[in-house]
Amino acid sequence: MYNLFDALKNPKWLDRNLAEADIVTLTLTLSYLSQDNYFLKKIKPYVKGPFDYSAKVPEELAGEIRKKLILFLNKNINNNSMLVRNINNDNQLIKQIMNTGVGGVVPDEYIPMMCEELLTDKKFSRNYDDFVAKKSDVKNFKVIIIGAGLCGLLAAIKLSQANIPFTVIEKNDSVGGTWYENSYPGCGVDTPNHVYSYSFEPSFHWDEFYSKRDSIYQYLLNCEKKYNLKTNIKFNTSVESMKFNEKQSKWVLCTRSKNEEKTYVANIVISAVGQLNRGLIPNIKGIDNFSGHIIHTASWDHAYDYNNKNLAVIGTGASAMQAAPELAKCAKKLTIFQRTPHWVLANPNYHRKLSKGKKWTLENLPFYSRWYRFQLFWGFSDGIHASLYEEKDWENFPNTINPTNDRFRKNIVKYVESVIGDDKELIEKVIPDYPPYGKRMLVDNHWYEMLKKDNVELVAGEIKEVFLDGALDSLGNKHNLDAIICATGFNANKFLWPMKVEGSESLRLNEVWEEDNPKAYLGITVPDFPNFYIMYGPNTNLAHGGSIYFHGECQIRYILGCIKMMFENNVSVLNCKSEVCEEYNKKLDEEHDKMVWSNELVDSWYRNSSGRVVNVSPWRLVDYWNMTSKPNIKDFKLG
Ligand SMILES: Cc1cc2nc3c(=O)[nH]c(=O)nc-3n(C[C@H](O)[C@H](O)[C@H](O)COP(=O)(O)OP(=O)(O)OC[C@H]3O[C@@H](n4cnc5c(N)ncnc54)[C@H](O)[C@@H]3O)c2cc1C
Repeated sequence: MYNLFDALKNPKWLDRNLAEADIVTLTLTLSYLSQDNYFLKKIKPYVKGPFDYSAKVPEELAGEIRKKLILFLNKNINNNSMLVRNINNDNQLIKQIMNTGVGGVVPDEYIPMMCEELLTDKKFSRNYDDFVAKKSDVKNFKVIIIGAGLCGLLAAIKLSQANIPFTVIEKNDSVGGTWYENSYPGCGVDTPNHVYSYSFEPSFHWDEFYSKRDSIYQYLLNCEKKYNLKTNIKFNTSVESMKFNEKQSKWVLCTRSKNEEKTYVANIVISAVGQLNRGLIPNIKGIDNFSGHIIHTASWDHAYDYNNKNLAVIGTGASAMQAAPELAKCAKKLTIFQRTPHWVLANPNYHRKLSKGKKWTLENLPFYSRWYRFQLFWGFSDGIHASLYEEKDWENFPNTINPTNDRFRKNIVKYVESVIGDDKELIEKVIPDYPPYGKRMLVDNHWYEMLKKDNVELVAGEIKEVFLDGALDSLGNKHNLDAIICATGFNANKFLWPMKVEGSESLRLNEVWEEDNPKAYLGITVPDFPNFYIMYGPNTNLAHGGSIYFHGECQIRYILGCIKMMFENNVSVLNCKSEVCEEYNKKLDEEHDKMVWSNELVDSWYRNSSGRVVNVSPWRLVDYWNMTSKPNIKDFKLG
């Protein structure tokens, strides 16, 4: 495979490969490299949205753009300054590039965040202030990270770059978390890989826009290797409890591995145990009497032979959407029990593979992957955020919440009808009454096609009781079953469960949080639990899009800022003030009250037993990026 230098010596080859790339992203890249907006103006009328399938740039113009790009590269390839753009002074151009790239208007406040993403040459991208700890500060200083999923690995990478000693404690025998544990058929992302990855570790080798589990897991294994993290991870070790010793200002953690219990002491603990790590088996009458197989999607039984069996899938959420169409291919009969239907979007890229030319361009054309990431970032998250607020006195409330949401609904219904055809009964079963985006939007993995198969039955009801050889549904029908597959999600509202966490004055975190009502400042820090930070904590899940990698990067930067603040102020304790946490959560709740996730028709895992939204963030990504960019010393009690 050519690099850019070699490719320029083979213009026909280069043009052929660039032709497979996204012409809009190529134009953004050319404009940024050449600092010239000529072609932005030319393509603007043809760009209707941020995705490659939403632009119709005429081939003649596309050819002209590629020609100009090749000319520009030939002229400047030996000029190092091509890669160094004085981005702070180029805001007008950046704004124009952003607007053209998404076929809309991106507010100015995105410019600083985007400028940060463009710092490809920086080792410390999205680090805190290029912070590296002094040797004297980290003498006898230690951080424990709990969990080696994508957040734990991220914390480990950033701490090692900042020269801060750390140990990761991981209950599994491998890194990867979700992407190690979940291996059910069809398991994969429903966020595009190119934003579901670290900003500082782009991967150009994804074969798909939406990779399957093995590729994501491999990506995390590669990161573990590249950053040489293995020696700092204690595998097969579970943190059972932890207690803050006020006299020593240190955390004492009790861990269990197969043969031994061990104690660790740390100045700082970072929990990276995830929100979706403890599978939830539904409590159905008689389930223990079932003589067949019971499997949870998160702990897939690969030894069981699913062929020609009567299978049941409980649930129609994200995991069911991925697993059921695969199971339908081999089952004698697949019965799906649906409590509530989900809104499902069609996405032309979901099953598509990346062409060689596109992969080459992502890897070799400077800044192309960065602008592509921005387009995804906008299209999959903040671009739709405004449409998630309820409009006062909206005529179709509560089934939709505003005109845009209503349009979404109509478009999706039209799509579902086009796939299902004239089976009115089935259409009625699968169209939700609550507004689109009320629960996580799913991407159509041939779901409706699957429901039309002769060996598939969708029961619009729950399992009421399980017998020795089958189940009774809530409509009164009996189903003979060989295996029950629980696509029933996780104990998501019980944050950090089942760990026992004891802070200052012996306060227990599960009691402070009333079991399922967690509150943390920025989702990261909790009053009276000093020097304890959470990644992917309360209200940091992203339901409007975005990627947990992005949120994780915001969180670890904030945590590094706190550690730096400790060193600079020569203190051993940082304790978030309760009024700061309360005020933050008051605002957060007020925001949620106006948003789709609190809609009266929506019952989801985002809400706790009293209906409060505890998992999802109400903020735009740019808001959270701003809130977490630098800790404020006034938010903490120092000790
Ligand atoms: C099937 C699935 C698909 C998803 N797809 C997407 C998607 O497309 N887009 C998106 O944005 N998000 C998605 N998510 C949500 C989220 O991005 C992932 O869950 C992500 O892996 C979270 O990373 P994490 O590191 O915070 O947690 P995890 O990946 O859950 O890792 C937590 C780690 O902590 C370890 N651990 C837990 N408790 C302890 C303990 N007491 N002691 C020691 N170790 C412990 C676990 O073993 C695990 O390795 C998905 C989640 C699931 C389950």
